[in-house]
Amino acid sequence: MRESAKEAILNAFKESGGDPNNESACLDWLSVTLAMNNYHRYTELLDGNYASIDHKLDKLSQHHCNLCKTSPFPIKRIPLNLPPISKQASDSDSRKHFERSIKTHLELLNQEISYPKDEKICLLVIFLLGNKDRDKDLDNMSKALLDALNNCLFHDDSAVIHLNLIKLRDDKNTKNGEIMINIRRSGLHQNNDVIFDARNHLKHESIT
Ligand SMILES: [Zn+2]
Repeated sequence: MRESAKEAILNAFKESGGDPNNESACLDWLSVTLAMNNYHRYTELLDGNYASIDHKLDKLSQHHCNLCKTSPFPIKRIPLNLPPISKQASDSDSRKHFERSIKTHLELLNQEISYPKDEKICLLVIFLLGNKDRDKDLDNMSKALLDALNNCLFHDDSAVIHLNLIKLRDDKNTKNGEIMINIRRSGLHQNNDVIFDARNHLKHESIT
């Protein structure tokens, strides 16, 4: 296990009242904690707690990317309170208006480019179609958004090497459309064998 991950786990164990020198107790604690997290996730689903579209949006936007292999932080979640547009289906005026709105939103949220030019990026985007929105293709919404984020959230969308897209609709038709972004650095380009490598960690190494 990577040293930073081990430290993070031992620290969390310590914060929960455990003795960080007792790694065997820490492993027991970790397995119970993970099991409880899964249990809560399933009971939430069974109880229908995802009925609220806001709750669903919130949960989905916290998704951690297992492939990009970066430490959990820094992850930025950025809510954009404006309806998605499709690059293909909108005229240039609508696209310009969308781009200006995105820029204004990011300024209001104090979000600016915080990645160096050569940093590779993993992006999760959830498009929520509102009650007045016609259905749109996911890839066309994505293209319009990525274009609008150029020189706002990152230098160029060519830096995005992993893109995770979700399209939702509010069945109760109570909301306007909105977009939720989850952005982080990606470690995918640093290791060609990243997935196999991650499995090796689990297979061959223990927390001790
Ligand atoms: Zn990723």
